[in-house]
Amino acid sequence: MSSADDDKVLIIPCSGIGKAFGSVGREATYVVVDDMRPGETDTLCLSLLTLGDEEAKERVRGHPVITIDGCPKACAEVNVKSAGGRSAANLKVVDTYREHPDLKVQAVLDLGEPGRKLAAFLAEKVVAEVDALKDKEDEADG
Ligand code: SF4
Repeated sequence: MSSADDDKVLIIPCSGIGKAFGSVGREATYVVVDDMRPGETDTLCLSLLTLGDEEAKERVRGHPVITIDGCPKACAEVNVKSAGGRSAANLKVVDTYREHPDLKVQAVLDLGEPGRKLAAFLAEKVVAEVDALKDKEDEADG
């Protein structure tokens, strides 16, 4: 792991296979990690944590983490916690949907234009959390 990687905020969405809101959470993660905050964030496959992968567990213990969950079971938050990490913020896709009820996801495999817009709104929330975490880090570094 490089020292630049040490500073990255991990964005971890639930796996949500077959769930529309799970797909929205993953799409929002890619928007943040690939487009909006590429140098400051990274992601990690939740399945590695559920399988007990030591390297993945170490990463969540050593980085600030933001989890995104597709339903109240909160698999991302729960698994980060059981791996010994802590979500600095946990975002529920349904909260963003409640703010934009017109944005109905088309299908699990193809979110459609409204679903992608919903993911974009969620990504903005994630970025706000990333920036807040970075500001805190900067303050702590003096
Ligand atoms: S939080 Fe809900 S949607 Fe996401 S993986 Fe768990 S059960 Fe599936």
